[in-house]
Amino acid sequence: MDSQAYPTDKITFPFDNSYFRELPGLYIPHQPEQRATPQLLYFNSPLADELLLKLPEDAPELLAALFTGNLIPEGAEPIAQAYAGHQFGHFSPQLGDGRALILGEVLDKQQQRYDICFKGSGRTPFSRNGDGKAAIGPMLREVLVGEAMHALGIPTTRALAVTATGEQVVRDKVLPGSVLTRVASSHIRIGTFQYFAARGQQDYVKKLADYTIARHYAELIDSEDCYLNFLAAVSQKQATLIAQWMSVGFIHGVMNTDNMTISGETIDYGPCAFMDSYKPDTVFSSIDEHGRYAYGNQPLIAQWNLARLAETLLSLIHPEQSQAIAAATEVIESFPELYQHEWQQKFRAKAGLTDSIATIESDSQLISDWLDFLHAQNIDFTLAFRYLADAAEGKPEALLDLASDPATIKDWLTRWQQPDAKPTSHRATHMRKHNPLYIPRNHLVEEALNAASQDNNLTPFENLLDTLKHPYQETPDTEQYKTPASDSFTSCYRTFCGT
Ligand code: AMP
Ligand code: MG
Repeated sequence: MDSQAYPTDKITFPFDNSYFRELPGLYIPHQPEQRATPQLLYFNSPLADELLLKLPEDAPELLAALFTGNLIPEGAEPIAQAYAGHQFGHFSPQLGDGRALILGEVLDKQQQRYDICFKGSGRTPFSRNGDGKAAIGPMLREVLVGEAMHALGIPTTRALAVTATGEQVVRDKVLPGSVLTRVASSHIRIGTFQYFAARGQQDYVKKLADYTIARHYAELIDSEDCYLNFLAAVSQKQATLIAQWMSVGFIHGVMNTDNMTISGETIDYGPCAFMDSYKPDTVFSSIDEHGRYAYGNQPLIAQWNLARLAETLLSLIHPEQSQAIAAATEVIESFPELYQHEWQQKFRAKAGLTDSIATIESDSQLISDWLDFLHAQNIDFTLAFRYLADAAEGKPEALLDLASDPATIKDWLTRWQQPDAKPTSHRATHMRKHNPLYIPRNHLVEEALNAASQDNNLTPFENLLDTLKHPYQETPDTEQYKTPASDSFTSCYRTFCGT
C-alpha cells in the first residue's frame, strides 16, 4: 500500500534527533525497505505513552505499516550507525547497523532521551553479506526477555512493537520475516568508539565521547579528567549491570564489544538464556565453543571489554601515552572491586542478610557455602533463593524438597538463622522483593516462540509475557511458569545468534 494512503495526522513522534544533528560522519542516512503485507504482532502501548507518542490504538493496519517501515513518521531521520567490535575476542573493524536503523530520538515524560530503532528493516551499507532481515521468533524473544528484564529492574532496551512482514527469511530453514521496533537510551556501544579509533579518526572519537558524556554522563562535563571519569563511570554502570544479570542467572551469550552499551543497558537478546541449576560454567550458545561467555565468565568479559573502550580513549585521557595508559589501567583494574561490591549487595539482599558491617565476612562465607551446595546438588538457582524466603518464615519444606542431600541444607539454615537474623515475615517479604519467582524459563520461551513462528499462535507468548511482567508477585495457576525445564531439555538446549 502506498504510504500516502495512511492518515498520517493520527501519528505523532516528537522527534529530536541529536545524533543525526551533532554527529554527521558517524552514520549513513538510509531508508527502511517497503514490505508487502505488514501485520502487527505486538504493540507496547504503555511504553508508547511513556514516550509521549501519539498513536491510534484502534488502527492495527496503520501501526503495522508504521512499525514495519512502510510509513515513516514525520520528523524521523533514519540512520545506520557505524560501529566495529571484538567478536569472541577477534576484532572486526566494520560491523555497523546491517539490519537496523535508528529512526530518531524522542524525550519521554521524564525528559529522558530514547532512540527509536528498527531491527530487520532491510539491507544497509553495513549489511556485508547479510540480508538485512529478521525472523519472528528472535524478535519476539526481544519482547519476552526485554520486558522480563525490565520487570526485574535490570536496565535494558525494550520492545515497542513487533510486526510480521509477510515475507520469508531464509535461515537454516525458511522462517516468517519480522521487524522489531526497539527503544534504547542510546545505541552507542564500545564498538562505536572502536570503529573510529581503529581508523585513527581521533577527531570523531572526541566528538563521540563529548556527545556520549553529554547524553549519558552529563554530571562529568566540567570535571577535571573528564574522559578518565567517563571511563570510570561506564565501568561502574557495567559492574552494576553484570551483578544484576548474575543475580537472576542471566547469560547474555554474546558479550562482544558491539553488544555492550555505554549507557549500561542490556542489548541484543540473541543467544541469551537463563541458568536453571546453579553451575557457573553454564553456556547455551551454539557458537560459544570455549565458554567465553559462560555465566561465571561475564564479569571478566565485561572488564576485558572495558579495557577495549579504554584503549580508544587514551589520547583523550592524557596527551602523554604512558600517563594515559597508567591512569586507564588503574580504572580497569578497579573493576573487580566495583563488581564485587555490587555482587555482594545483590546476593546479601537475596539471602536476606542485613547490611551490618560486622557480619560481612561471615555472611560472605554463608553465601559462598550456599552457592556451593546449590552447585553440588544441582539445585535450581531461582527457586532455591525464592524458597529460602519461605524458610525465613519457618517453612523450609519447599527448599528441602529441591535438595538431594537435605541434611547439609538444614545445617546451613541453622547457621543462617544465627545469631540476629530471626525467622520473621519481615525478612521473608524483603527477600521476595529480591528473588523472582518467574524468570523467562528457556523451555517456555522456546515453546512460545515456536507457537508464534510456526503456528501463528500468539497465545503462549502473550500468557508468558503477562506472567513475566510481575516476576516477584506470585499469582494463582502459574505453576507451569515457575517450574524449571527438565534436565533432558536443559542438557540439549542450544541457543543461536538470533538472526
Ligand atoms: P548481532 O549478532 O545481531 O549483534 O550482529 C552483529 C553484526 O552483524 C551487526 O553488524 C549486524 O548488523 C550484522 N547482522 C546480523 N544479522 C544480519 C543480517 N541478517 N543482515 C545484515 N547484517 C546482519
Ligand atoms: Mg549486536
